[in-house]
Amino acid sequence: MSDEGWTETFASSTHSAASAETRHSCALAEIARCTPKGNTGSNRGLRPRGMVAFATDEQTTRPRGATRTPVRPLYVACSQATLHQYVPLLGPCMLRIKMYPAKNGDSFLVDAAGTFILIDAGFASTFQDFIKPDLASLTNDGRRLALAVCTHIDADHIGGLLEFFSSNGPQPRRLVEVDRVWHNSLRSMPLQPGKEEGVQGKLVLEALRRRGFREPAAPGPIGARQGSSLAKMLGHDGYLWNEGNGTTCISQDQHPLVLSEAVSVEVVGPSRARLEALRNVWLKEGAKLGYKGGAASTDLLDDAYEMWCATAFQATAPKIRKVSANGNLRLADIYAPDHSPANGSSIAIVIKSAGVQVLFLGDAWAEDIVAKLRAGKPATGPILFDAIKVSHHGSCHNTSPELLATVDAPCFLISTDGSRHGHPNFEVLAEIVDRPASFERRLIFNYETAASARLRSHASRSGTPFSISMAHTNWISLEG
Ligand SMILES: [Zn+2]
Repeated sequence: MSDEGWTETFASSTHSAASAETRHSCALAEIARCTPKGNTGSNRGLRPRGMVAFATDEQTTRPRGATRTPVRPLYVACSQATLHQYVPLLGPCMLRIKMYPAKNGDSFLVDAAGTFILIDAGFASTFQDFIKPDLASLTNDGRRLALAVCTHIDADHIGGLLEFFSSNGPQPRRLVEVDRVWHNSLRSMPLQPGKEEGVQGKLVLEALRRRGFREPAAPGPIGARQGSSLAKMLGHDGYLWNEGNGTTCISQDQHPLVLSEAVSVEVVGPSRARLEALRNVWLKEGAKLGYKGGAASTDLLDDAYEMWCATAFQATAPKIRKVSANGNLRLADIYAPDHSPANGSSIAIVIKSAGVQVLFLGDAWAEDIVAKLRAGKPATGPILFDAIKVSHHGSCHNTSPELLATVDAPCFLISTDGSRHGHPNFEVLAEIVDRPASFERRLIFNYETAASARLRSHASRSGTPFSISMAHTNWISLEG
């Protein structure tokens, strides 16, 4: 990137479905529109709230013939922040997001006007290759993480966090200061009182712990097996954990967390019932092996529980009711609700920063999010966010037609390399862009997948324009 700084806003595939001719031309040619920031052409007026801007890097697909246009210095801070360099925010860039290339997992760094939040960390390699240098830059700049969130205990979300917290150590932290951590582990829920785990129970827990955090079946290594739970690390290293010592859970019942005058975090999932359901599955499965529950939290119990959770539900995706033989099925035809208790325990949050609000859904169940967002509110059109992180890597089990009738945004983030469960499902992407809207939608991926490639030749059924972009290690900036 030159010293002048550049920013490019382009629709790598902009579709209006006006005609077959339009569709054909869109399929044939990537439409490049490189415009100075602050003048994004006719689409600017279509966005209801924020505007999405991109700092490009080598991972971004630049349409053939695209040229760079210098931008006003006001935006340089947004576009010049690179992997190893933190540049403070200026002007209207009120919230920006890095969607790290976490293989088939999730990891996001949010910069809410100088308040930093890390949501998941993909695999160990995601942390080492991408997140660690950024966190080191924060420290060099005198910054810290205001919040680190482990949405749920699954290898593609917690692997990088295990790597992070094992290397960050006790105070003084080796890499970056962390004000608080949200992580729902077993000790965050009430235990079944009065039971002793017994000799057999202890053997079961030790066997689980010896197994460690197993690598997932699909590609996406988490490196050497990690042998300590996040719970144990947080407890031993003295982090402020779930606003205390980790013995209470983060759930949708709590008040929004205020991080600064302008920044707050609202929890929209999970419910306590979902967390207790996960605990009950653990107790039931453990009982089959001879573990009858413990009367007290121990390191051994923390380790065994998390190592069991991280892989116990990876093969439990519900069957898709119909197979799309001709590729014309809609989301409503194939949607089947997720029933993985681990995914149902996902911490889903809304980050608000000076008028910008972003919905991060983890791998949450669609029905739970709809129930929470609709509670006590009249169903008059979708709730608008500035961006939505699509649940469970775009799975057709976690985004329902009802959820898409409940929420909408000009920007959707889809994180996966497509190597697990065929994520994202094309029908989810199509349903997002097919709905009528008075604004343009932009779908941002961190990898090209079969579904994102197919979407490039799709025309919105409603004629609502949309575009596709690739973000890898660059910031995605949202303006209020
Ligand atoms: Zn996941």
